[in-house]
Amino acid sequence: MEIKKGIAVSPGISIAKSMVIDSEDYRIPYRAIEPGQRTNEIRRLRKAFSDAIDELTQLEETHKNKGSQIKDIFAVHQRFLHDRSLQKKIADTIRTELVTAEYAISNTFREIASHFADEKDAYISERAADIYDIARRVLKQLLGKKREEIGQLKEEVIIVARELSPIQTASFDKKFVKGITSDAGGRTSHAAIVARSLGIPAVVALEDFSTIVNEDDSVIVDGNRGIVIVNPDEKTIREYQEYREDFNQLGHKLNTLREKPAVTRDGANITLLGNIEFPGEAQTVLEKGGDGIGLYRTEFLYLNKTTEPTEEEHYEAYSQTIKAMQNKPVVIRTLDLGADKYTQSKRFVREPNPFLGLRSIRFCLQNIMMFKTQLRAILRASVLGNVKIMFPLITNQQELMQAKMILHDVMEDLSEEHIDYNRNMPVGIMVETPSAALTAFSLAKEVSFFSIGTNDLTQYTLAVDRSNELVSTLYSTADPAVLRLIRTVVQDAHKAQIDLSICGEVASEPEYIMLLLGMGVRTFSLASPMIPEIKQIIRSVTMTDCNKVARKILSMNSERHITSYLRNAARKILPEAF
Ligand code: PEP
Ligand code: MG
Repeated sequence: MEIKKGIAVSPGISIAKSMVIDSEDYRIPYRAIEPGQRTNEIRRLRKAFSDAIDELTQLEETHKNKGSQIKDIFAVHQRFLHDRSLQKKIADTIRTELVTAEYAISNTFREIASHFADEKDAYISERAADIYDIARRVLKQLLGKKREEIGQLKEEVIIVARELSPIQTASFDKKFVKGITSDAGGRTSHAAIVARSLGIPAVVALEDFSTIVNEDDSVIVDGNRGIVIVNPDEKTIREYQEYREDFNQLGHKLNTLREKPAVTRDGANITLLGNIEFPGEAQTVLEKGGDGIGLYRTEFLYLNKTTEPTEEEHYEAYSQTIKAMQNKPVVIRTLDLGADKYTQSKRFVREPNPFLGLRSIRFCLQNIMMFKTQLRAILRASVLGNVKIMFPLITNQQELMQAKMILHDVMEDLSEEHIDYNRNMPVGIMVETPSAALTAFSLAKEVSFFSIGTNDLTQYTLAVDRSNELVSTLYSTADPAVLRLIRTVVQDAHKAQIDLSICGEVASEPEYIMLLLGMGVRTFSLASPMIPEIKQIIRSVTMTDCNKVARKILSMNSERHITSYLRNAARKILPEAF
């Protein structure tokens, strides 16, 4: 039995067999096998090589009229893939070291590549990159099959990975994927956000956990306390089964609040909205008692496709969501691509600092045709219900004016084509950069609402990557600098008499609710599985107490003191949540 502590990102307890997945990289972590699995691993190795040869031969056929340089590259790849002694060396590694085919392949290729890289002759040393390409080609055969298996699960599993992309996480079937662990990531990385939306217990930032776990090991994921246990003993399993039972009962109890209003004990009405990534989640928002959708992350429409979605595909997704919400508000956020959310076609174009790069509204303003396609679909869908549009990652007034101008152009086009849309559709922005927060007073004159995106606001204010586990202890929205910016934005929105909500992950964290209420926030948008618990907190507090908490916190200078003060205050209100 081995216990590891990471960051709890999605609540709940699960116990199941592990399914270990690797990324399509040549650096596969060490994985041991039982002696009885040797034959199967060697069979997998041979099949991966022969499938890679088939794939390469087909590629050669399609590129047969290209230049001689391309032909040379293909020839090098073919020579390696047909090299019997290479396959034998890898098979020997599997046999003697008792490791998986993936590990044996990646390790052997890495050794060969390092011999090339050590050569003084530049031409030879640069061939190391080719060796890695060949390794990737073979590994893709094995890992691609694994992805297919994940798509066709027949029994419950816990996914164990080094790193997960948001789209990998979104493709998990909730019926069978009972828990998620990843070595990398932070509380607000998008894979974590998706796990929370799906209601799958998850723990991230587990260092080398994925290398400790073998396929089919028994694993416990405690998404409440951020603990994972591999091969637990009988006593631990029993304790966790009881804990799971208690936790699930609390969930059932909270679900009974569905029809009750989110109102404080002294009568302040609060609006609770859901964050979604896919139209199908609208139903969960309603089931959990949400008053609408406060953040629809539309870029997910792009992430699992190799081609750009058409206007009709956009329209279909939006109209399905809007109709499901039956006239309740739906805030559609325009594409927030880039950083950790790449389209399939842009997956390999890496920027040096992707979170500071061509991301979000910046990407849209440089890809106007793509942006207009989405805007047309949103405008067409705007007549189907209560729709608002929201631009992400605004950093200055000029960017906002440009986005609004393009929206205007699209409106004119639709008018000319006699296509119906809501001319008065509210336009808002996400406030998620320090520059937008500090100029909120002037941006407020141009929009109908603000939504504070604390996930990015925290990252950009503190200069801490939100998805990097190495700096996760430095990432905290309770930092006085971030809280002061939030207060500024709330005050400026109130002065300008525009709507304000908060849609970052803190809106689903019980500790933050009293503080945010005390700071003047009245609308929260959060992962819908968390709505009942947050409603329970709201129904248990008075605004008088919340105001006191906010006053006290805003006079404090240390993140550590603030965090412990918030935790104690919330623990008094809802002890079961902690
Ligand atoms: C945020 O940044 O707080 C936010 C809600 O947007 P996202 O998490 O999608 O970046
Ligand atoms: Mg954001």
